[in-house]
Formats: sequence, C-alpha cells, structure tokens
Amino acid sequence: MPKKVTPLSEFGEFGLIDHITNDFKKVNKETLYGIGDDAAVLEYKDKKVLITTDLLVEGIHFNLIYTPLKHLGYKAVVVNLSDIVAMNGTPKQITFSLAVSSKFSVEAIEELYEGVKLACKKYNVDLIGGDTSSSLTGLLISVTAIGEANEQTIVYRNGAKDTDLICVSGDLGAAYMGLQLLEREKSVFSETSHIQPDLSGYDYILERQLKPEARIDITKILQEKGILPTSMIDISDGLSSELLHICKQSKTGCRIYTEKIPIDAETCKMANEFNISPETAALNGGEDYELLFTIPITDFEKVKSIKGISVIGNITNASEDLNLISPEGNFIQITAQGWNAIK
Ligand code: ADP
Ligand code: MG
Repeated sequence: MPKKVTPLSEFGEFGLIDHITNDFKKVNKETLYGIGDDAAVLEYKDKKVLITTDLLVEGIHFNLIYTPLKHLGYKAVVVNLSDIVAMNGTPKQITFSLAVSSKFSVEAIEELYEGVKLACKKYNVDLIGGDTSSSLTGLLISVTAIGEANEQTIVYRNGAKDTDLICVSGDLGAAYMGLQLLEREKSVFSETSHIQPDLSGYDYILERQLKPEARIDITKILQEKGILPTSMIDISDGLSSELLHICKQSKTGCRIYTEKIPIDAETCKMANEFNISPETAALNGGEDYELLFTIPITDFEKVKSIKGISVIGNITNASEDLNLISPEGNFIQITAQGWNAIK
C-alpha cells in the first residue's frame, strides 16, 4: 500500500510545529519551560552549563537515498549529546531546527521526529524548542544540546600529561566501513526496481553508521570507579585527528600501538573487501562517536577491569611527536587524514 503523503502546506508552519512536538514529555527539573513561547526557560543550580551545536546539510553530511529519516533524527541528536558527554557532562535539553523543501511531506517530518523522540527518551533529554523554515533545495538540520557538569569534573582536551595512558571506548572504524558499504550499494537504492541492495551479514557496521550512540555509559562507569580523565574528546573525525587535537592542546606527544586499536571483525572483513587496512579505517574514518581519553598511569588497575575500554598507548613529552608503533616496532608519524568540513 502506498504511504500516505500529506503536503506540508496543509498544516502550515505553526500547525506542523504543534503536530510534531505535542507528544514530547518533559523529564528534567532543570527545564522550567520548553516549547511554546518566545524562549525556553532553564534553571541550573550550582552547576556549570555546557552548550554545543551542529549543522547537518543534505548531500554533505547525510544522503537521504540510504538514510532512513528516523535514523537521521536520532543521529542528529546523538552526535550533539556526544559532545556534552565528551566534556564529562550530562545532556539535559536540545533544540532542533530544520529547513525543509516542499518535496517533504508531513509524514516524512513525523518520521524524522520519531528518531528525535527516541533519542530524547533514551538519553533523558527535553526538546525545548527549535525553528522551522522552508528551503529551496535540500534538508538542513541544526541541533543545539545543553547539559550540566560540575566545575571540578569538566574534562577538557588540554589536560593530558606525559606518561598518562591513552584509552578508547568500544571499537573504531566500523561507522566508516558501514558508510563505504552504503555508498557502494547506492545505485541499487536509487533504482525503482524491486532489487534490494545486498547488505546482509553487515548489520553491525551499518548500525554504527546509521545509529551511533553517545557513550554516557562510559563516563558513568569511569565516575563509579573513581577515574577522572585528564583529557577527553569524542571520536567524530577518526582517531588520528582526535589524537592531534588532544596532543596539540595539551602540548604533548604520544605513542599508539597498532595492535591495541580495537577493531570489530565485521569492520576487518569489509575493509578487506575494499582493500584497505582496518587500522586505516580506525585511524582516519570518522563517526564512531566513541570516547578517546587519557588517565593517570596510577589508574591502570582500575581501568583494566572495565569492559569496553582499551588502553592503546601513552602520552609522551612534546618532543616525541605523535607516533604509531607497528607490531614490528617501527615508528610511523601520525597525521590527520580525517574528515575536513571545509574542502
Ligand atoms: P518564533 O516566532 O519566536 O521563532 P516559532 O513560532 O518559530 O517562534 O516557534 C514557536 C515555538 O515552537 C517555540 O517554542 C520554538 O522553540 C518551537 N519550535 C519551532 N520550530 C520547532 C521545531 N522544528 N522543533 C521543535 N520546536 C520548534
Ligand atoms: Mg521561529
């Protein structure tokens, strides 16, 4: 049965906003007033407030040929929450703004907001506003996330010290290999025939690309174990690029051991199909949204016991530069080849 298609013009701007936002439930006491007035009202007592924002542009950051709108809504929220988490904060509110062309139906926007709602529910975040506009060409999404942190436990990129251990959560390179797979099968998606793209056996890397998560579970467990990272960043542009940020801002060097970089078997399999090394995918592929952080060497015993965290190397004096050490003991200098937004 064909899907119902209601043109946006049938609802109008205000009707649409009401329609898509009316079943969001407020969950945080810090949200005094959300959607419905000229501005939202928040209250943070004795806390520092964190704010971060991202702009997503159709054709640049996402491709609607293979990105379901529900996943897009979810991901647009999660990538912002990940930035709050990477400061060791707790996300509390988001605003969600969009510019849509007339090719979108009310049902399409509903699907997008299904994803937004799912992310808000999963991460206990309130949708407190946004803006809605039309666009002549593609879809544009802008999300702002607001969160809280204690002044003493905010973790910046610039706190890494010589001898600190370098840790990453989860595994790397999967989101990039998922994207390569989707790009390869793109022509099949766009054809109207009944042929389905062959994505079987690659659920994990596809999920990593289409439905990333913000690793607040990791910052929670670090806190429970009494580990306060000395520096932290979320891996949105690839391990190399994020290491460069930490080392540059902390004025240090580092040593990373190739065989210690966590990579899933599915990522390796797909990398082999594409004739690239899995390590390259991990170092230079983006969008894993895992956490890269450093801890004092004295916390080694504590971190060792946490499932899902890998120690991949250590911070050194700035004079050593950034080095990747191969299993044979060769030093390779790390340079960033990750995603660069302005090309
Ligand atoms: P204004 O004229 O002050 O910009 P709007 O009419 O655009 O106000 O918005 C009315 C209310 O709806 C505000 O609370 C605004 O934050 C919220 N809002 C508008 N667009 C969206 C959206 N796409 N998602 C969520 N909330 C929205
Ligand atoms: Mg407005």
